[in-house]
Amino acid sequence: MSEFTLIKNCDVFTPLRMIQSGSILIEGEKIKRVGQFGDSGIPPGTRVFNFKNRVAVPGFIDIHLHGGGGEEFTDSSAESIITALKTHLKNGTTSLLPTLMTASHEQILNTIRTFLDIKNNNHDIPDIIGLNLEGPYISKEKRGVQRTQYIRRPSLAEMKEYIEVSQESIKIVTVAPEIDGISAFIRFLTERNIIPSAGHTNAGFEQTQQAIEAGVRLATHIFNAMRGIAHREPGAAGALLLNDEVYAEVVADGIHIHPSILSLIARAKPLERIILVTDATRFYGVKQGASYSKEGKLFGSNTALDLALKHMTRFTGMPFTQILKTVTTNPARLLKIEDQKGLLKRGCDADIVILDKEYQVQEVFLRGKKLPHSERRPAAV
Ligand SMILES: [Zn+2]
Repeated sequence: MSEFTLIKNCDVFTPLRMIQSGSILIEGEKIKRVGQFGDSGIPPGTRVFNFKNRVAVPGFIDIHLHGGGGEEFTDSSAESIITALKTHLKNGTTSLLPTLMTASHEQILNTIRTFLDIKNNNHDIPDIIGLNLEGPYISKEKRGVQRTQYIRRPSLAEMKEYIEVSQESIKIVTVAPEIDGISAFIRFLTERNIIPSAGHTNAGFEQTQQAIEAGVRLATHIFNAMRGIAHREPGAAGALLLNDEVYAEVVADGIHIHPSILSLIARAKPLERIILVTDATRFYGVKQGASYSKEGKLFGSNTALDLALKHMTRFTGMPFTQILKTVTTNPARLLKIEDQKGLLKRGCDADIVILDKEYQVQEVFLRGKKLPHSERRPAAV
C-alpha cells in the first residue's frame, strides 16, 4: 500500500507556472497531482500538511559543492561526507553533484569509491545525481586555491579509470581550454556523456571558442578563476558568456561577483542557461561570510541557495519565480533528469521545499518524506 501525503493551501511555483492556494498530492515518493483542488477524493489516511502563507517549490539542485557542516568531500570518511550532505539537505538541496577538488590520483579514486558506497547504502541524504570533477586538468595560473602539485596534463587512461571506477557516474569535468590537445579530450568526454566545463583557465577568447566548438557546454563559476572581459580581449569569460549553448554556473553570494556583473550575466545569457551554485566549502552551514585562503585568495562560498536566489532576484530585478529556474529546471535540463527532478508535476520525484513569504527555506520533503524540523543554521553571508 502506498502512502499518500497532501500539501495544501500554499502558493505553488512549479516553476513553469504559479498556482495560488494550490495543493500537491504525493503518492509514495512521487508527485501524483498538482493544482487547485480540495480534500474531496483524497484517499483515506492521507497525511495532510497545511502550509498557509507559504510557498512550495521544487527541491534545489546544486551541481557544484565541495562540502559543508565542517566537512570536505575530497579524501574524507563516509561519515564526514554524510554530515556535509545533510547540511545541504536542511537548506533545501535535495539533489546534488558532489564536486572533487584537484587531488592525487589515489585521493580522487578513494573519494569516488566512498561516494559509490554512500549512494548505495543511505536513504536520508540528498540524491547524488553523479560526480563533478573540478580538475585536475586546469591552469596553474588560474588555479584559485586548488593545489598546484596535483594539476596535471589530461590523460585519457586516467579519465577512463575514473569513469570505470565511478560506474559511469561522472557528469561534469572542468578543463582549461588553453591546454595542448584539449579539443580531443573534450570530444572524448562528450562521447562518454560527460559535460565538459571550461574553468580555472587563462584562455583567451579564441581558444575558448575553439573549446566550445569541441563540446564545452558549461562554464565553471563564470568570471571566477578565469580570464575576464577586456574590451579588446573578451577572454574566456566573454566567450562563455556570449555563446547561448553554454550554461553558466554563477556564485551569487554578492562577493564572488560584483552585483553589477550578476546583472550583466542575466542580460547577456538566456535565463535558461544560468545555474546558481554554492561552490560550498566545509564552512557552509558553520560560519557566515566567504572563505579566504592563507594567501588571501577567495574560495568557495557559504551562501545557501535560497539566499543566492534572493541576491540574484535583487541584483537583476527579475521576478523570483523566474530566477527559481536557475536551481531547479535549468540544472535538471543540463543533467538530462528533467522528467524526474526540478519540476513540480505529476510523475516527478516528490522533492519539495516549503519557503516562507521571504523565500527562506522552512521545510524540506525528500522523496515524499518530510524531514524532521530542525533548527536551520543560516548558511548565509
Ligand atoms: Zn569549486
